[in-house]
Amino acid sequence: MDEYMEKALDIVEAQAAVRPMTEEEILAQVRRLRSLLRRMETDEKAPEEEKKTRRSIREQRILCLECGRSFRMLTSRHLATHRLTPDEYRDKWGLKKDTPLLCRALQKARRTTMHSIRLWERRSSAEKGDAVPDLPACTGA
Ligand SMILES: [Zn+2]
Repeated sequence: MDEYMEKALDIVEAQAAVRPMTEEEILAQVRRLRSLLRRMETDEKAPEEEKKTRRSIREQRILCLECGRSFRMLTSRHLATHRLTPDEYRDKWGLKKDTPLLCRALQKARRTTMHSIRLWERRSSAEKGDAVPDLPACTGA
């Protein structure tokens, strides 16, 4: 049983307590409420505006939601033509603060770079660790 079904049952139970309902009525009402509740929830999670914003970031380009032109990345210089900073732009269109204003391909490339930098850092610090001379064994002298 899913949560919508549970909520629907709660509501119908309350309705059945105040007025007599036939079994068919109850079943039909539960089904109706369940799909209604599910639709409400889905709408809340993905309002039209948010969907539009998410769609603006594509594989090879990112759409400027201000002017509708597409770019590989939205630079602060371009956003300045709309009198917006990148932060203000994210705020205005409901993007998360850390959303990169890049097309997906560039996001991926950037992640790969960050990943190899981290690997390199780990390797070089491991090497440094190796370089530390072994402490002389304590002889108790
Ligand atoms: Zn623009």
